Amino acid sequence: CGVVGIWGAPQASNLTYLGLHALQHRGQESAGIVSSDGGRLFAHKSLGLVQDAFSQPVLEALPGDRAIGHVRYSTAGGGGLKNAQPIAVDYAMGSLAVGHNGNFTNFEEVRTRLEAAGSIFNSSSDTEVLVHLIARSREATTVGRVSDALKQMQGAYSIVFLTTDELIAVRDPHGFRPLCLGTLSSYPGLPGATVVASEPSAFELIGAEYVRDLEPGEMIVADREGVRSLRPFETRAQRMCIFEYVYFARPDSKLNGISVYDTRKRLGAILAEECPADVDVVIPVPDSGVASALGYAGRLGIPFELGLIRSHYVGRTFIEPSQSIRHFGVKLKLSPVRAVLEGKRVAVIDDSIVRGTTSRKIVKMLRDAGAKEVHLRISSPPTRWPCYYGIDTPSRNELIAASHSPAEVAKYVTSDTVGYLSIDGLHRAVRGEGPGRQGFCDACFSGDYPVPFATENGTGKRS
Ligand code: 5GP
Ligand code: SF4
Ligand code: MG
Repeated sequence: CGVVGIWGAPQASNLTYLGLHALQHRGQESAGIVSSDGGRLFAHKSLGLVQDAFSQPVLEALPGDRAIGHVRYSTAGGGGLKNAQPIAVDYAMGSLAVGHNGNFTNFEEVRTRLEAAGSIFNSSSDTEVLVHLIARSREATTVGRVSDALKQMQGAYSIVFLTTDELIAVRDPHGFRPLCLGTLSSYPGLPGATVVASEPSAFELIGAEYVRDLEPGEMIVADREGVRSLRPFETRAQRMCIFEYVYFARPDSKLNGISVYDTRKRLGAILAEECPADVDVVIPVPDSGVASALGYAGRLGIPFELGLIRSHYVGRTFIEPSQSIRHFGVKLKLSPVRAVLEGKRVAVIDDSIVRGTTSRKIVKMLRDAGAKEVHLRISSPPTRWPCYYGIDTPSRNELIAASHSPAEVAKYVTSDTVGYLSIDGLHRAVRGEGPGRQGFCDACFSGDYPVPFATENGTGKRS
């Protein structure tokens, strides 16, 4: 998912809308904005893309100089309008809206406890649990209640709250998901507005200036008094999601000071050193494999070509929840360029193999277009473990690499060879020259889960 928050800018809902556009890659299932003019909250949510969810009249019905927005793809709780965000509620202490990127790992446990005490839930989303905890808190202020509630939740959250009087943005103590702070000062005579967004690419579009990433465990509060930074939680080791760099974030974003684009090129270059292929041409699976394919081709001195063309008028296949749509999606989305492929030995670079179904179709597509050999190279290690922190991976038994060696995966996807990046290579590529030697979650590759979670057979392991 992706979140945006704006405080102190006229027509905040318009800016939020644009910010959500720049975060569309983080979720295409639903989009929503809640705004306020200081008197009450105004909300609109819809299934589908940002551009379809909002029209000019809809945005005009979201007045005020403060707003939060959310784009969703379902991890906990499934899709549907009921689970769309921001969630907006009225409770004893006023009105509150919340937009969440991440997953609360202990939400089922907390929900069961709340239900036993009489709470009724509207949706199956993990975020609603948090709203109940806020409403039940005895703290005197919104900041106090939000802190109190978040202290009872575990897992991953980059989260924005809006009341009539304040914008609150929080990054969880491990800093799993990104969240950035910016300012907007393009209104003469007005003090600069405060902006938060999942990725800095959202700032670019609305003309805001990137200030910094929120630190793990940091809470930013913007209200009439100004902007302040709070530290409501105990300090924990930083565990930024390394997969944001591999796949999820936009290449033009910098996260924690590290360029996503540069990182992807390094992923490809290190992959070339670890798993070279003797081929005539290197092609990416667009769009997610483009930068790493450039790095791969560059390191080996082999021509980079566009052997697959992507239609930009369909969403990311993996975000659509049903298998039947997913199967159809690959052909809708990609078509081979015969002129590049015919009679060639081809290395095709993709970011990850999840179930293997996409790769299988792609390999077939390349062979049908005349490729003589197809060598699949993956710019991350084998995905062996599900993510419990806000990325939608299927269960372990659906992850092909959990039970198959690279040679067996090659057999399944019908490529001549398959080569993955090593975990060490992944870390080297992400760190590059940048700061922060440790501080990444790589659980989907290593099984080293930083925060425990409930599973069918007890609690997930902790490290
Ligand atoms: P597969 O057919 O192997 O399941 O899909 C792999 C493709 O899905 C890759 O091209 C990759 O870009 C994309 N993908 C990346 N991350 C994820 C994820 O977390 N979940 C799923 N289902 N697909 C992903
Ligand atoms: Fe990111 Fe993987 Fe960790 Fe999930 S398990 S937070 S996808 S690195
Ligand atoms: Mg892809």
